[in-house]
Amino acid sequence: MERVLPFSEKHEKFRANFGKFLDAEAVPYYKEWCASHMVPHSFFEKMAQAGFMAVWIDKKYGGVGAGNDFLYTVIKAEEYSKRGLNSIFSRLSGDVIAPYINQNGSEEQRSEWLPKIARGEVVLGVCMTEPAHGSDLAHIETRAEDMGDYYLVNGEKTFISNGMVADALVVAVRTSDSPEKPYKGISLLIVDTSSEGVKREFIDRIGLQAQDTAHIYFNNVKVPKKNLIGEENRGFYILMQHLEAERIMAAYGSIGMVEHTLQLTRDYVKERQLFGKSLSSFQNTQYVLSKLWVRYTMAQNYLDQTLLKYMTGVDVNQDASMVKYYTSELAFESADQCVQLFGGYGICSNEEISRQFVDSRIVRFMGGTSETQLGVIAGSLGIK
Ligand SMILES: Cc1cc2nc3c(=O)[nH]c(=O)nc-3n(C[C@H](O)[C@H](O)[C@H](O)COP(=O)(O)OP(=O)(O)OC[C@H]3O[C@@H](n4cnc5c(N)ncnc54)[C@H](O)[C@@H]3O)c2cc1C
Repeated sequence: MERVLPFSEKHEKFRANFGKFLDAEAVPYYKEWCASHMVPHSFFEKMAQAGFMAVWIDKKYGGVGAGNDFLYTVIKAEEYSKRGLNSIFSRLSGDVIAPYINQNGSEEQRSEWLPKIARGEVVLGVCMTEPAHGSDLAHIETRAEDMGDYYLVNGEKTFISNGMVADALVVAVRTSDSPEKPYKGISLLIVDTSSEGVKREFIDRIGLQAQDTAHIYFNNVKVPKKNLIGEENRGFYILMQHLEAERIMAAYGSIGMVEHTLQLTRDYVKERQLFGKSLSSFQNTQYVLSKLWVRYTMAQNYLDQTLLKYMTGVDVNQDASMVKYYTSELAFESADQCVQLFGGYGICSNEEISRQFVDSRIVRFMGGTSETQLGVIAGSLGIK
């Protein structure tokens, strides 16, 4: 089916160039990165130098100047997924977190950080989750004490993507106690990871093996006042402001996983011989893949429609949660059903399908769990 997204020749050229870049700079090294649990900083730098990092960044800050054209981000998500490069979180740094600084930061912050992001010198992570406060973000306890010309930050964050490779982190901190409405006491600070008192520990996980996820301790870290993004105690609102885009982008990652899973499986079942005929000739195989294909096509169409609405400024809060929920659940369900079609080979770690299985398990948590999305949907149905 024809996509509703208006990809122009310029977009398609970008797609072809980005694909070539990944084939040369990521695909040959990906297994190595999975083994070392890290996408090296040099990859982010190469990507930035080739003009793929923060395409939307204004030319005056060294970007390409594509502004609000999210189609470039979609293309990047699709090209990563197509190659099974699920663990490269460049989009998180350049397309999800950097916009906090661009849209909510000061001119001084834009001038300081955006050129470094555009050049690939700075990779970003975002620290919201704490050991005792995951879904319950409003109650975070990492504290930033006002010390005059700097904040003194103490606390810990967990499950931070890009946590080990990041040069700077956008950290959600408590700057005020507001017992009735705790979300009103949260601020966002840019913290340089080389600051004294920042300690990072890698978290070993199943899935997304090349992604470095970290537990981060902040022990009397001095953060200059100029690193406050927006106004003090308005951090929660800033995070919420970017949530729709984040959920839509997470959904593109998930739908790309579904497509790659189906592609791998379609190839496999045609090749695999059982009882003297191909696995694809069994009706069960045809039904499993056909049903998943229907769900994939419908989900992608709905996702594209949601993005189009978002790009025209329409409120897509409910849609963004619905597509995030549906595509991440589908990514896992399709991987699970396709592993079954691979038989025992499906769980062998040298088979790419096994990577799709463990990688897709994680997308049901990241960017807000499926239950969090269902809560948003229930709210918009007026039953919460
Ligand atoms: C690989 C990975 C990367 C991540 N990257 C980042 C990152 O870069 N930055 C960051 O800040 N965080 C990140 N996270 C954290 C992620 O956002 C959290 O895992 C998520 O918010 C859930 O928090 P939790 O894990 O503490 O689970 P909990 O909040 O303890 O939830 C446990 C279970 O309870 C359910 N639940 C929670 N609240 C409700 C409710 N009200 N009603 C019903 N059920 C509920 C949840 O859905 C879940 O199933 C990452 C997580 C993973 C796994």
